[in-house]
Amino acid sequence: MNYDQTNIFAKILRGEIPCTKVYEDAHTLAFMDIMPQADGHVLVLPKAPSTNLLDADPATFAPLFATVQKVARAVKTGMGADGVVITQFNGAAAGQTVFHLHVHIIPRWEGIALRRHSGQMEQMDVLKAHAEKIIAAL
Ligand code: AMP
Repeated sequence: MNYDQTNIFAKILRGEIPCTKVYEDAHTLAFMDIMPQADGHVLVLPKAPSTNLLDADPATFAPLFATVQKVARAVKTGMGADGVVITQFNGAAAGQTVFHLHVHIIPRWEGIALRRHSGQMEQMDVLKAHAEKIIAAL
């Protein structure tokens, strides 16, 4: 595995840089994406290191997707969304920009287009307000 311990999500997992956390357990961490494609866009990471899905230990997936389901339900309820998209990118050519496995949870509303992937930074107070709605629905 070609895992770089200095990637930004490894730093967040070590507590070296902050995140707007919505959920954490022994195996996973979920926080607000700083360049959300929609209001309430959350990332879920396994704590175990792997660059993406292709080099991960399969034992990673059960706790990871248990958290994805738990948080996706809270995103849908807390944000009042009509639906939820789950995405996950493997390799730069596929759109991956941070090389620690992560799953995107993106709420969708009828008639509202998605914003660009890795587009514009959101204000911290806005991210915090969305996180509070999601946490209240967990
Ligand atoms: P990907 O293209 O799947 O690797 O997605 C990486 C995602 O991480 C993008 O949606 C970025 O907006 C997001 N991102 C990058 N840096 C941070 C950070 N420090 N905190 C939260 N989200 C981040």
